[in-house]
Amino acid sequence: MHLPKFEYFQPSTVEEAVHLLEIQKSSVGLAAGGTDLYPRMKYGLTRPESIISLKHIPVTPPTLSQDGILNLDAFMHIGDVVSSQIILDNAPLLSEAAGRVASEEIRQMATLGGNICQESRCLYYNQGHSFQFIDPCLKRGGDLCYFVPNGKKCLAVYMSDTAPALMCLNAKVKIIGSKGERQIPIEDIYSGEAKRPVKIGPTEIFFQINIAKQPKSSGWAYRKFSLRGGVEFAGVGVATGLIMRNNEKVCEQASITVGAIAAAPLRASKAESLLKGKEISDSLLKEAAKVAADEIKVVPHHGYSKLYLQEILRVQTRRTLEAAYERCS
Ligand SMILES: Cc1cc2nc3c(=O)[nH]c(=O)nc-3n(C[C@H](O)[C@H](O)[C@H](O)COP(=O)(O)OP(=O)(O)OC[C@H]3O[C@@H](n4cnc5c(N)ncnc54)[C@H](O)[C@@H]3O)c2cc1C
Repeated sequence: MHLPKFEYFQPSTVEEAVHLLEIQKSSVGLAAGGTDLYPRMKYGLTRPESIISLKHIPVTPPTLSQDGILNLDAFMHIGDVVSSQIILDNAPLLSEAAGRVASEEIRQMATLGGNICQESRCLYYNQGHSFQFIDPCLKRGGDLCYFVPNGKKCLAVYMSDTAPALMCLNAKVKIIGSKGERQIPIEDIYSGEAKRPVKIGPTEIFFQINIAKQPKSSGWAYRKFSLRGGVEFAGVGVATGLIMRNNEKVCEQASITVGAIAAAPLRASKAESLLKGKEISDSLLKEAAKVAADEIKVVPHHGYSKLYLQEILRVQTRRTLEAAYERCS
């Protein structure tokens, strides 16, 4: 499979990249590592006439501000996220989730920004369609779904591994565009619509991710379920965090987010509320996992049925909560 022809731009600053986005007359695509974009171009799912590569913009190493905020460059390679000591010390949940993205080779090319801006996926949509003489599906601009007869809503699933972890950590993203810079909670970048899961303006670029300091008495865990393991997208990804009252077994705050089950990562807020202010016990963690599995609306995908994914979600939530509790220091 070959890439179609396109014009290629290599800006060396993010401002230059924004300017190039502004002045492009033809359809344009941003490429960071290209591990999501280029396969989609090869399949003919998107055909930008020009590509603006973010690869030549220098990457600032992670820093910790005086008030303990961890600043991450969105152009950082996922492999560097995994190996960074400062990230491991200050946001171990992100290190753990980043380590579950694809394979070592892909992690060396893929970026954090690209991981959170990746497209939603579906077993029918993510393939070459040039030899199919059938009407396009909703995500390809048509008006039907090949999985849900008479379905009027695209049910492709957003499968980033780092996004649920960043949402669990209440990360904020910084965006730069022709109208200047803005910072928003990562939850707000998602549209909830599978056809275009990430809300970002046509001349905007994510350039930084900020994570606030976590209390010492906290523990975090990420688990990704996939049938074959190895280089495979998640069937379900669960990120959890428990912040404990000092020297007590009481949970001050809980954070539970689930990925790869809908058009955006979802927060299990009822389960979070159930844990808040309670003394942690095995039975409470089990109950919270059940509440999470009941409250999250799971979209069946990639051959996994809804009931199966709900059960996996319950088991994975319990296991991540147990691991997070064990890690509370
Ligand atoms: C075999 C294979 C296995 C994979 N497995 C996984 C997996 O297990 N888990 C997982 O999460 N992903 C997986 N992926 C998907 C992909 O590799 C990752 O999501 C990767 O992190 C994408 O990053 P990138 O820099 O290569 O993105 P790109 O392909 O460069 O970009 C992806 C999208 O984001 C946009 N974009 C990129 N950076 C920015 C930015 N800074 N601001 C605004 N928009 C931006 C691009 O325009 C594009 O639309 C897999 C891919 C392959 C090919």
